[in-house]
Amino acid sequence: MTIVFVPKESAPGETRVAATPETVAKLVKQGLEPLVERGAGAASWISDEQYAESGARLVDAGEGYGQGDLVLKVAAPSAEEACRIKRGAVLISHLSPTQNLEVVEALRDGGVTAFVMELVPRTTKAQTMDALSSQANIGGYKAVLLAAATLPKYFPLLMTAAGTVKPAKVVIFGVGVAGLQAIATAKRIGAVVWATDIRPEVKEQVESLGGKFIEVAPDAGQTEPSVYAKEASEDYKKRQAEAVAKHVAEADVVITTALIPGRKAPLLITEDMVRSMRPGSVIVDMAVSQGGNCAVSRCGEDVEVHGVKVIGHPNLPATVPVHASQLYARNVLDVVKHLVPDKENENRELRLDFEDEVTAGSIAVHAGEVRHAMTAEALQQRGGS
Ligand code: NAD
Repeated sequence: MTIVFVPKESAPGETRVAATPETVAKLVKQGLEPLVERGAGAASWISDEQYAESGARLVDAGEGYGQGDLVLKVAAPSAEEACRIKRGAVLISHLSPTQNLEVVEALRDGGVTAFVMELVPRTTKAQTMDALSSQANIGGYKAVLLAAATLPKYFPLLMTAAGTVKPAKVVIFGVGVAGLQAIATAKRIGAVVWATDIRPEVKEQVESLGGKFIEVAPDAGQTEPSVYAKEASEDYKKRQAEAVAKHVAEADVVITTALIPGRKAPLLITEDMVRSMRPGSVIVDMAVSQGGNCAVSRCGEDVEVHGVKVIGHPNLPATVPVHASQLYARNVLDVVKHLVPDKENENRELRLDFEDEVTAGSIAVHAGEVRHAMTAEALQQRGGS
């Protein structure tokens, strides 16, 4: 029988867990044997008893790593954790492989297969496994609430006997999953919202949520709508900076969510733009752990620059651990079902089908080989083995 191990997360600030009692019960129903490290759910308000009641066996890390054929994690393992995973096992986790080369090497040399949650293709078939979306949604929501709690002003328009209060102006960079949720949340609490994105086709989505779109003329030849953004040309960056300057200067809150898959986040807010904002305004840089969209944000810190509060929380989903874990665990459960199908698989064996686009696209390391091209390239450039 395939044994599934769920360790307690060890990364600083990581409160999430990769399986919940709901998904543990489903793993049991699938014919798998779940082991959960004692205390794994504590930071998500899930007790060991709840896991035990849903069919898990509570173990210590040594037993779990020693036995797990599948290891389910949220944050990338440390190199030390990677070395504890048994040869031939499959790790299902976030990994940021191009940034965690030492861990990738440990997995490769230890004969571990790594299914990387960030690499799940953005396709209809893979939607239920899409953790980037489930977590970005939570991040976008929480970014707005943090900004509202930090801003020394109201968000909504208020007409009172003591006079009228103007609504806050919120400007959002990047209208992917996080950006859309940020627009919806800011609108719900009464702000006037403006948003921009390198993909002009998102204009309609912004408007359907009651936001206003800041138009930037696309580069000539950029016509095909795509869910994957590319690096902007120098010319585009200039046009974009001109188009957003006035909005940023007038903004009470700026939330940046812009990412380019597999690359460093684009720099969109310069220090001069920060200087142009009113003192007391707030910036939340959601891309801070990928290099940041704002020149002055600091990963893991809230700083005040030219009177503007700049929030650099690297892991907003972890501040909503109950629902973040609930949704992430469901994404991971679907990956498990994909890799260990129940059809014509009486012994519930692992079936890695590299003809399948989800499996082939998401597995970065397998059988002693780094399959993810960008990671292999990064290893080579670094002069690794
Ligand atoms: P993301 O997190 O990779 O990036 C966030 C946003 O930043 C994107 O909209 C991107 O266009 C934008 N961006 C990048 N560079 C920029 C720049 N220089 N200036 C301004 N904006 C910039 O994106 P995401 O949230 O994963 O989603 C991207 C798209 O993919 C969305 O339209 C989403 O609905 C779609 N999606 C589809 C599926 C699916 O079909 N299953 C799954 C996930 C996402």
